[in-house]
Amino acid sequence: MAAPGVLPCMGRLSEMPAALGRLSRAYSKSQAFTEVLQLPKRQLTKLVFPLQELERYLLPDSKPDLHLNTFDPSLDDIARAESFFTASARNRVEYLSSAVRLDHAPDLPRPEVCFIGRSNVGKSSLIKALFSLAPEVEVRVSKNPGHTKKMNFFKVGKFFTLVDMPGYGYRAPEDFVDMVETYLKERKNLMRTFLLVDSVVGIQKADDIAIEMCEEFALPYVMVLTKIDKSSKGHLLKQVLQIQKFVDTKTQGCFPQLFPVSAVTYSGIHLLRCFIAYITGNLKTN
Ligand code: GDP
Repeated sequence: MAAPGVLPCMGRLSEMPAALGRLSRAYSKSQAFTEVLQLPKRQLTKLVFPLQELERYLLPDSKPDLHLNTFDPSLDDIARAESFFTASARNRVEYLSSAVRLDHAPDLPRPEVCFIGRSNVGKSSLIKALFSLAPEVEVRVSKNPGHTKKMNFFKVGKFFTLVDMPGYGYRAPEDFVDMVETYLKERKNLMRTFLLVDSVVGIQKADDIAIEMCEEFALPYVMVLTKIDKSSKGHLLKQVLQIQKFVDTKTQGCFPQLFPVSAVTYSGIHLLRCFIAYITGNLKTN
């Protein structure tokens, strides 16, 4: 059943055109945002501003606020942010090191952002997608049960550090909460925590632990909704509206705007790159 406020014609609109899927995958390899800018307006919106695209399917008179304008950069801003993520001889984007404890973490002066989420939420895939403009970067995945999970540090030019935190939930190591908690509480240059939620299933019990941690330490954090290519538009809208309501009514430190993404179609990836560049103080949006 469609969520309240959702247009009833959703079923017919649920499919993403295959051509766009192909194009965005091809785009991710060819690296040129200029190609995206040449897409027809509707396809461009779908790829770059997925939340705006979703909002089109809400009834005008019962539109819940999706906070579309909280972070609303221009296409120029987004193009500028892409350059930070593009590896070159002068802009090194690379894996730096891993740590199991905060006191083993590299002491870096740059602003930092971290990505946390339940195991299987799509964190490695998302980080790989963010780094698709630096194909040399190896995003390490340690999925074997019992294998020590680590925090992985990536340098993005002279701009910021991105930290991939170990996945939590099922089979998380005992010391996981200690490791993550200490990092979140004590890392001085941590600018923003990106908390990943699977858009197919919504907020799960395991996510509550991370949400509570962020709230308790009064951290600024953002919810990123992964795998948006997997659901029908109707199901996705229902999840987005539920999560938005949760953010609006149950959280203090969470950024009001949600960031839906797909590591398969690259939908939302450009906007997320731009947001990271912005909150690390590297980009002033117009
Ligand atoms: P992690 O454990 O959080 O690092 O999750 P992974 O990145 O390994 O992803 C878990 C599973 O979800 C894998 O089978 C991925 O291929 C799949 N997956 C991740 N992101 C997406 C996405 O955006 N779309 C789809 N369709 N599948 C995804």
